[in-house]
Amino acid sequence: MNFSRPDNARYINRLKVLSALRKNDGMGRVDLSRKLGINKVSISEIVDSLIKDRLVKEKGKVFRSQGRPTIGLGLDEECGIIIVFSFQKENVIGVSGDIRGRILRMEMFSSDGDIEEKMASSVSRMASGKRVFGIYISKDGDMDFHSRYPVVIRRRIFSQARSEKELIGNGELGRTLFLELSDEVSGLLTRDGNELVLPNIGHMRIKRGRFCKMGHEGCLEAYFSTYALKGKAQELSLTVSEKELMKEKHLLAFLYENLRVLSSASLTLSEVLDVNHIVLTGDISSMPDKFIEEINGMLDENGAEVRIRKCDPTGKGELGGAVDSALDWFFFQTRIIDALSPLSVLSMGTEDKEGKKKDQEE
Ligand SMILES: [Zn+2]
Repeated sequence: MNFSRPDNARYINRLKVLSALRKNDGMGRVDLSRKLGINKVSISEIVDSLIKDRLVKEKGKVFRSQGRPTIGLGLDEECGIIIVFSFQKENVIGVSGDIRGRILRMEMFSSDGDIEEKMASSVSRMASGKRVFGIYISKDGDMDFHSRYPVVIRRRIFSQARSEKELIGNGELGRTLFLELSDEVSGLLTRDGNELVLPNIGHMRIKRGRFCKMGHEGCLEAYFSTYALKGKAQELSLTVSEKELMKEKHLLAFLYENLRVLSSASLTLSEVLDVNHIVLTGDISSMPDKFIEEINGMLDENGAEVRIRKCDPTGKGELGGAVDSALDWFFFQTRIIDALSPLSVLSMGTEDKEGKKKDQEE
Protein backbone atom coordinates (compact mmCIF):
# COMPACT_ATOMS: atom_id res chain seq x y z
CA MET A 1 0.00 0.00 0.00
CA ASN A 2 1.34 3.40 -0.92
CA PHE A 3 0.40 5.60 2.02
CA SER A 4 0.89 8.85 0.16
CA ARG A 5 -1.81 8.08 -2.42
CA PRO A 6 -4.89 10.15 -1.61
CA ASP A 7 -7.38 7.25 -1.55
CA ASN A 8 -5.06 5.28 0.72
CA ALA A 9 -4.54 8.26 3.00
CA ARG A 10 -8.30 8.56 3.17
CA TYR A 11 -8.64 4.89 3.99
CA ILE A 12 -6.15 5.25 6.82
CA ASN A 13 -7.99 8.28 8.17
CA ARG A 14 -11.18 6.22 8.19
CA LEU A 15 -9.40 3.62 10.30
CA LYS A 16 -8.11 6.31 12.64
CA VAL A 17 -11.64 7.62 13.17
CA LEU A 18 -12.92 4.12 13.93
CA SER A 19 -10.11 3.50 16.42
CA ALA A 20 -10.71 6.86 18.10
CA LEU A 21 -14.40 6.02 18.53
CA ARG A 22 -13.47 2.59 19.86
CA LYS A 23 -11.65 4.30 22.72
CA ASN A 24 -13.95 7.29 23.21
CA ASP A 25 -17.56 6.81 22.45
CA GLY A 26 -19.49 10.05 22.00
CA MET A 27 -16.80 12.22 20.42
CA GLY A 28 -18.05 14.83 18.00
CA ARG A 29 -16.61 15.84 14.63
CA VAL A 30 -14.68 18.73 16.17
CA ASP A 31 -13.20 16.47 18.86
CA LEU A 32 -12.08 14.02 16.19
CA SER A 33 -10.55 16.75 14.11
CA ARG A 34 -8.58 18.04 17.09
CA LYS A 35 -7.57 14.64 18.37
CA LEU A 36 -6.44 13.23 15.04
CA GLY A 37 -5.04 16.42 13.55
CA ILE A 38 -7.21 16.09 10.47
CA ASN A 39 -9.03 19.18 9.19
CA LYS A 40 -12.74 19.55 9.91
CA VAL A 41 -13.82 19.29 6.28
CA SER A 42 -12.04 15.96 5.82
CA ILE A 43 -13.33 14.65 9.13
CA SER A 44 -16.87 15.53 8.12
CA GLU A 45 -16.47 13.72 4.80
CA ILE A 46 -15.03 10.65 6.50
CA VAL A 47 -17.72 10.59 9.17
CA ASP A 48 -20.46 10.97 6.56
CA SER A 49 -19.09 8.07 4.55
CA LEU A 50 -18.82 5.93 7.71
CA ILE A 51 -22.42 6.75 8.56
CA LYS A 52 -23.45 5.88 5.02
CA ASP A 53 -21.62 2.56 5.33
CA ARG A 54 -23.45 2.00 8.62
CA LEU A 55 -20.28 1.65 10.64
CA VAL A 56 -20.82 4.80 12.67
CA LYS A 57 -23.96 6.52 13.89
CA GLU A 58 -24.96 9.81 15.41
CA LYS A 59 -25.96 9.47 19.03
CA GLY A 60 -27.72 12.77 19.63
CA LYS A 61 -26.58 16.02 21.19
CA VAL A 62 -23.86 16.01 23.82
CA PHE A 63 -23.81 19.05 26.10
CA ARG A 64 -20.50 20.43 27.32
CA SER A 65 -19.48 22.61 30.21
CA GLN A 66 -17.95 24.92 27.62
CA GLY A 67 -18.91 25.71 24.06
CA ARG A 68 -21.86 24.66 21.97
CA PRO A 69 -23.42 21.23 22.25
CA THR A 70 -22.11 18.81 19.70
CA ILE A 71 -23.47 15.73 18.02
CA GLY A 72 -21.83 12.71 19.59
CA LEU A 73 -20.71 9.89 17.35
CA GLY A 74 -20.32 6.23 18.13
CA LEU A 75 -19.64 2.93 16.46
CA ASP A 76 -22.80 1.38 15.11
CA GLU A 77 -22.87 -1.75 17.24
CA GLU A 78 -25.41 -3.43 15.00
CA CYS A 79 -23.27 -3.08 11.91
CA GLY A 80 -21.94 -6.61 11.83
CA ILE A 81 -20.00 -9.30 13.61
CA ILE A 82 -16.73 -11.13 13.73
CA ILE A 83 -16.55 -14.89 14.24
CA VAL A 84 -13.85 -16.55 16.31
CA PHE A 85 -12.85 -20.17 16.65
CA SER A 86 -10.57 -20.96 19.54
CA PHE A 87 -8.97 -24.41 19.52
CA GLN A 88 -8.63 -25.73 23.04
CA LYS A 89 -7.19 -29.11 23.94
CA GLU A 90 -10.12 -31.27 22.89
CA ASN A 91 -12.79 -28.77 21.98
CA VAL A 92 -13.32 -25.89 19.68
CA ILE A 93 -15.17 -22.86 21.00
CA GLY A 94 -16.89 -20.76 18.38
CA VAL A 95 -18.18 -17.31 19.22
CA SER A 96 -19.64 -14.40 17.38
CA GLY A 97 -18.93 -10.94 18.72
CA ASP A 98 -20.07 -7.43 17.93
CA ILE A 99 -17.62 -4.66 17.12
CA ARG A 100 -17.40 -3.74 20.82
CA GLY A 101 -16.12 -7.23 21.53
CA ARG A 102 -19.28 -8.36 23.28
CA ILE A 103 -20.00 -12.03 22.77
CA LEU A 104 -23.34 -12.62 21.09
CA ARG A 105 -23.34 -16.35 20.67
CA MET A 106 -21.17 -19.24 21.77
CA GLU A 107 -20.95 -22.81 20.56
CA MET A 108 -18.68 -25.65 21.54
CA PHE A 109 -17.88 -28.85 19.71
CA SER A 110 -15.20 -31.52 19.84
CA SER A 111 -12.19 -31.04 17.62
CA ASP A 112 -12.26 -34.58 16.19
CA GLY A 113 -14.09 -35.74 13.07
CA ASP A 114 -14.71 -33.41 10.14
CA ILE A 115 -13.80 -30.22 11.89
CA GLU A 116 -14.08 -28.03 8.81
CA GLU A 117 -17.64 -29.08 8.23
CA LYS A 118 -18.54 -28.42 11.86
CA MET A 119 -16.98 -25.00 11.62
CA ALA A 120 -18.72 -24.21 8.35
CA SER A 121 -22.14 -24.98 9.78
CA SER A 122 -21.31 -23.02 12.91
CA VAL A 123 -20.41 -20.06 10.70
CA SER A 124 -23.73 -20.18 8.88
CA ARG A 125 -25.65 -20.36 12.18
CA MET A 126 -23.75 -17.42 13.63
CA ALA A 127 -23.82 -15.33 10.48
CA SER A 128 -27.55 -15.79 9.72
CA GLY A 129 -27.98 -12.76 7.52
CA LYS A 130 -25.57 -10.51 9.41
CA ARG A 131 -22.61 -8.76 7.89
CA VAL A 132 -19.49 -10.77 8.79
CA PHE A 133 -16.21 -8.83 8.82
CA GLY A 134 -14.07 -11.94 9.12
CA ILE A 135 -13.34 -15.26 10.76
CA TYR A 136 -10.44 -15.46 13.17
CA ILE A 137 -9.06 -18.88 14.03
CA SER A 138 -6.87 -19.13 17.11
CA LYS A 139 -5.00 -22.38 16.71
CA ASP A 140 -1.51 -23.85 16.87
CA GLY A 141 -0.46 -25.97 13.93
CA ASP A 142 -1.70 -25.97 10.36
CA MET A 143 -5.20 -26.08 9.06
CA ASP A 144 -7.10 -25.04 5.97
CA PHE A 145 -10.40 -23.31 6.24
CA HIS A 146 -12.21 -21.73 3.34
CA SER A 147 -15.18 -19.46 3.60
CA ARG A 148 -16.91 -16.73 1.66
CA TYR A 149 -15.72 -14.39 4.44
CA PRO A 150 -12.09 -13.39 5.02
CA VAL A 151 -10.26 -15.91 7.21
CA VAL A 152 -7.09 -15.62 9.24
CA ILE A 153 -5.44 -18.39 11.24
CA ARG A 154 -3.00 -17.32 13.93
CA ARG A 155 -1.25 -19.04 16.81
CA ARG A 156 -3.01 -19.02 20.18
CA ILE A 157 -0.18 -17.12 21.76
CA PHE A 158 -1.32 -14.00 19.87
CA SER A 159 -4.73 -14.13 21.56
CA GLN A 160 -3.09 -14.75 24.91
CA ALA A 161 -0.82 -11.78 24.43
CA ARG A 162 -3.77 -9.64 23.36
CA SER A 163 -5.69 -10.50 26.48
CA GLU A 164 -2.70 -9.68 28.70
CA LYS A 165 -2.41 -6.37 26.91
CA GLU A 166 -5.98 -5.63 27.95
CA LEU A 167 -5.27 -6.67 31.54
CA ILE A 168 -2.06 -4.81 32.20
CA GLY A 169 -2.20 -1.98 29.71
CA ASN A 170 -0.10 -1.35 26.66
CA GLY A 171 2.74 0.55 28.25
CA GLU A 172 3.53 -2.17 30.77
CA LEU A 173 3.63 -4.71 28.00
CA GLY A 174 6.27 -2.65 26.20
CA ARG A 175 9.00 -5.27 26.34
CA THR A 176 7.48 -8.61 27.14
CA LEU A 177 8.29 -12.14 26.12
CA PHE A 178 5.41 -14.61 26.11
CA LEU A 179 6.88 -18.03 26.64
CA GLU A 180 4.58 -20.82 25.67
CA LEU A 181 5.22 -24.08 27.47
CA SER A 182 3.04 -26.66 25.76
CA ASP A 183 3.87 -29.65 23.61
CA GLU A 184 6.65 -27.45 22.31
CA VAL A 185 8.22 -24.29 23.65
CA SER A 186 7.85 -21.16 21.60
CA GLY A 187 7.92 -17.46 22.20
CA LEU A 188 6.22 -14.27 21.18
CA LEU A 189 8.14 -11.06 21.66
CA THR A 190 6.23 -7.81 21.91
CA ARG A 191 8.14 -4.58 21.62
CA ASP A 192 6.89 -1.12 20.78
CA GLY A 193 3.59 -2.53 19.55
CA ASN A 194 5.21 -5.04 17.21
CA GLU A 195 5.02 -8.78 17.64
CA LEU A 196 7.58 -11.32 16.63
CA VAL A 197 7.15 -15.09 16.84
CA LEU A 198 10.22 -16.99 18.00
CA PRO A 199 9.50 -20.65 17.24
CA ASN A 200 12.84 -22.21 18.25
CA ILE A 201 13.34 -20.40 21.49
CA GLY A 202 13.04 -23.58 23.56
CA HIS A 203 16.12 -25.22 22.13
CA MET A 204 19.04 -23.46 23.71
CA ARG A 205 21.13 -25.77 25.84
CA ILE A 206 20.82 -25.26 29.57
CA LYS A 207 21.26 -28.44 31.55
CA ARG A 208 22.67 -31.69 30.28
CA GLY A 209 20.86 -34.93 30.93
CA ARG A 210 17.58 -34.99 29.06
CA PHE A 211 16.83 -34.81 25.36
CA CYS A 212 14.04 -33.01 23.52
CA LYS A 213 12.22 -34.62 20.61
CA MET A 214 14.48 -32.77 18.18
CA GLY A 215 17.41 -34.64 19.73
CA HIS A 216 19.04 -31.71 21.56
CA GLU A 217 20.51 -32.42 24.94
CA GLY A 218 19.52 -30.20 27.84
CA CYS A 219 17.29 -27.62 26.19
CA LEU A 220 14.33 -25.97 27.88
CA GLU A 221 11.93 -28.11 25.88
CA ALA A 222 13.58 -31.25 27.26
CA TYR A 223 12.25 -30.25 30.69
CA PHE A 224 9.38 -27.79 30.37
CA SER A 225 7.07 -29.20 27.71
CA THR A 226 4.14 -31.60 27.91
CA TYR A 227 6.19 -33.83 25.66
CA ALA A 228 8.93 -33.99 28.29
CA LEU A 229 6.40 -34.71 31.03
CA LYS A 230 4.92 -37.58 29.04
CA GLY A 231 8.41 -39.03 28.63
CA LYS A 232 9.06 -38.69 32.35
CA ALA A 233 5.71 -40.36 33.15
CA GLN A 234 6.74 -43.29 30.95
CA GLU A 235 10.09 -43.63 32.72
CA LEU A 236 8.27 -43.73 36.04
CA SER A 237 5.66 -46.16 34.66
CA LEU A 238 2.88 -43.75 35.58
CA THR A 239 -0.40 -43.99 33.77
CA VAL A 240 -1.62 -40.45 33.49
CA SER A 241 -3.82 -38.81 30.89
CA GLU A 242 -2.65 -35.72 29.08
CA LYS A 243 -5.20 -33.62 30.96
CA GLU A 244 -3.92 -34.80 34.34
CA LEU A 245 -0.21 -34.28 33.66
CA MET A 246 -0.03 -31.12 35.73
CA LYS A 247 -1.82 -32.76 38.65
CA GLU A 248 0.49 -35.77 38.98
CA LYS A 249 2.72 -35.14 42.00
CA HIS A 250 5.78 -37.01 40.67
CA LEU A 251 5.73 -34.90 37.53
CA LEU A 252 5.35 -31.71 39.54
CA ALA A 253 8.31 -32.84 41.64
CA PHE A 254 10.28 -33.34 38.42
CA LEU A 255 9.47 -29.78 37.33
CA TYR A 256 10.31 -28.44 40.78
CA GLU A 257 13.75 -30.11 40.74
CA ASN A 258 14.45 -28.45 37.43
CA LEU A 259 13.17 -24.94 38.10
CA ARG A 260 16.71 -23.69 37.67
CA VAL A 261 16.49 -24.68 33.99
CA LEU A 262 13.57 -22.30 33.55
CA SER A 263 15.19 -19.54 35.58
CA SER A 264 18.47 -19.81 33.62
CA ALA A 265 16.54 -19.77 30.36
CA SER A 266 14.58 -16.72 31.54
CA LEU A 267 17.74 -14.92 32.50
CA THR A 268 19.43 -15.59 29.16
CA LEU A 269 16.35 -14.71 27.15
CA SER A 270 15.81 -11.49 29.05
CA GLU A 271 19.37 -10.42 28.31
CA VAL A 272 19.42 -11.47 24.68
CA LEU A 273 15.99 -10.06 23.87
CA ASP A 274 16.13 -7.09 26.25
CA VAL A 275 12.82 -7.82 27.95
CA ASN A 276 11.80 -7.11 31.53
CA HIS A 277 8.69 -9.28 31.74
CA ILE A 278 8.28 -12.93 30.85
CA VAL A 279 4.73 -14.24 30.81
CA LEU A 280 4.28 -17.99 30.82
CA THR A 281 1.47 -19.45 28.77
CA GLY A 282 0.49 -22.95 27.69
CA ASP A 283 -0.21 -26.13 29.64
CA ILE A 284 2.85 -26.09 31.86
CA SER A 285 2.12 -22.52 32.96
CA SER A 286 -0.50 -23.96 35.30
CA MET A 287 2.34 -24.96 37.64
CA PRO A 288 1.80 -23.93 41.29
CA ASP A 289 2.35 -20.27 42.21
CA LYS A 290 5.04 -21.37 44.62
CA PHE A 291 7.17 -22.47 41.64
CA ILE A 292 6.91 -19.03 40.08
CA GLU A 293 7.92 -17.36 43.35
CA GLU A 294 10.86 -19.72 43.53
CA ILE A 295 12.01 -18.81 40.02
CA ASN A 296 11.71 -15.10 40.75
CA GLY A 297 13.81 -15.71 43.85
CA MET A 298 16.52 -17.34 41.71
CA LEU A 299 16.40 -14.42 39.30
CA ASP A 300 16.81 -12.05 42.25
CA GLU A 301 19.89 -13.93 43.42
CA ASN A 302 21.36 -13.32 40.00
CA GLY A 303 20.59 -9.63 40.24
CA ALA A 304 18.27 -9.90 37.25
CA GLU A 305 15.60 -7.30 36.70
CA VAL A 306 13.37 -9.58 34.69
CA ARG A 307 10.24 -10.89 36.39
CA ILE A 308 8.35 -13.98 35.40
CA ARG A 309 4.64 -14.57 35.86
CA LYS A 310 1.74 -16.66 34.60
CA CYS A 311 -0.69 -15.70 31.91
CA ASP A 312 -4.25 -14.93 33.04
CA PRO A 313 -4.81 -18.10 35.10
CA THR A 314 -8.53 -18.47 34.37
CA GLY A 315 -7.83 -19.38 30.76
CA LYS A 316 -10.87 -17.29 29.82
CA GLY A 317 -8.48 -14.63 28.69
CA GLU A 318 -7.49 -16.41 25.52
CA LEU A 319 -11.01 -16.33 24.12
CA GLY A 320 -11.47 -12.66 24.94
CA GLY A 321 -8.06 -12.00 23.47
CA ALA A 322 -9.06 -13.83 20.30
CA VAL A 323 -12.18 -11.67 19.97
CA ASP A 324 -10.11 -8.49 20.43
CA SER A 325 -7.50 -9.79 17.98
CA ALA A 326 -10.26 -10.51 15.46
CA LEU A 327 -11.54 -6.95 15.78
CA ASP A 328 -8.02 -5.55 15.51
CA TRP A 329 -7.44 -7.63 12.42
CA PHE A 330 -10.65 -7.29 10.43
CA PHE A 331 -12.47 -4.22 11.66
CA PHE A 332 -10.05 -1.68 13.10
CA GLN A 333 -7.08 -3.02 11.10
CA THR A 334 -4.76 -1.71 13.77
CA ARG A 335 -1.68 -3.20 12.14
CA ILE A 336 -1.99 -0.65 9.34
CA ILE A 337 -2.13 2.22 11.83
CA ASP A 338 0.67 0.67 13.91
CA ALA A 339 2.79 0.41 10.80
CA LEU A 340 2.62 4.18 10.51
CA SER A 341 3.60 4.99 14.07
CA PRO A 342 7.08 6.55 14.24
CA LEU A 343 8.49 3.72 16.35
CA SER A 344 7.80 1.09 13.76
CA VAL A 345 9.08 2.87 10.69
CA LEU A 346 11.81 0.25 10.45
CA SER A 347 9.30 -2.55 10.04
CA MET A 348 7.34 -0.76 7.32
CA GLY A 349 8.82 -3.01 4.68
CA THR A 350 7.16 -6.14 5.95
CA GLU A 351 3.87 -4.49 6.88
CA ASP A 352 3.77 -3.05 3.40
CA LYS A 353 3.91 -6.48 1.80
CA GLU A 354 1.29 -7.81 4.17
CA GLY A 355 -1.01 -4.92 3.35
CA LYS A 356 -0.68 -5.55 -0.37
CA LYS A 357 -1.38 -9.23 -0.01
CA LYS A 358 -4.47 -8.50 1.98
CA ASP A 359 -5.77 -6.04 -0.57
CA GLN A 360 -5.53 -8.71 -3.25
CA GLU A 361 -7.38 -11.23 -1.14
CA GLU A 362 -10.33 -8.97 -0.54
ZN1 LIG B 1 15.61 -28.99 21.90
